[in-house]
Amino acid sequence: MTDCLFCKIIKGEIPCIKVYEDEKTIAFLDIMPTVEGHCLVLPKKHEETILKSSPEDIKAVFETIKTISPAIMKATNSQGLNLNININKQAGQAVMHTHVHLIPRKDNDGLKLWPQDKNYPKDKLEATAVKIKEYI
Ligand code: AMP
Ligand code: ZN
Repeated sequence: MTDCLFCKIIKGEIPCIKVYEDEKTIAFLDIMPTVEGHCLVLPKKHEETILKSSPEDIKAVFETIKTISPAIMKATNSQGLNLNININKQAGQAVMHTHVHLIPRKDNDGLKLWPQDKNYPKDKLEATAVKIKEYI
């Protein structure tokens, strides 16, 4: 897609700090990293979100994630890793080309996950499941 930042990176029109590439995917360092080693993995085929990418491209992305994650963790001396996929702007997606964030994690690195309600009522969980299943 012509005006997509990540398509331009894939085509080499905009530089990136690349760590891996194969036929279907590319991985490069996030230009504004959360922590050292923060990488993005994306399919070369443009789709706006992972929900629109083909199962083949999603498989290729996760194969690349499996290939490079141990290397990222070793290189940054990290023992944990968050995979994060933002879908649409409400979830924080700024670049509308499918991508997965790889964020290596260490003990006491100061990053926090999203808040959770420890006392959420079970009947509300069940009612939500009923609504979701109606749409599957
Ligand atoms: P998201 O908010 O999930 O769409 O993530 C997009 C990510 O792309 C952000 O974390 C940005 O820091 C990153 N980003 C934006 N421009 C570039 C670039 N030219 N090279 C590498 N990463 C970029
Ligand atoms: Zn694109």
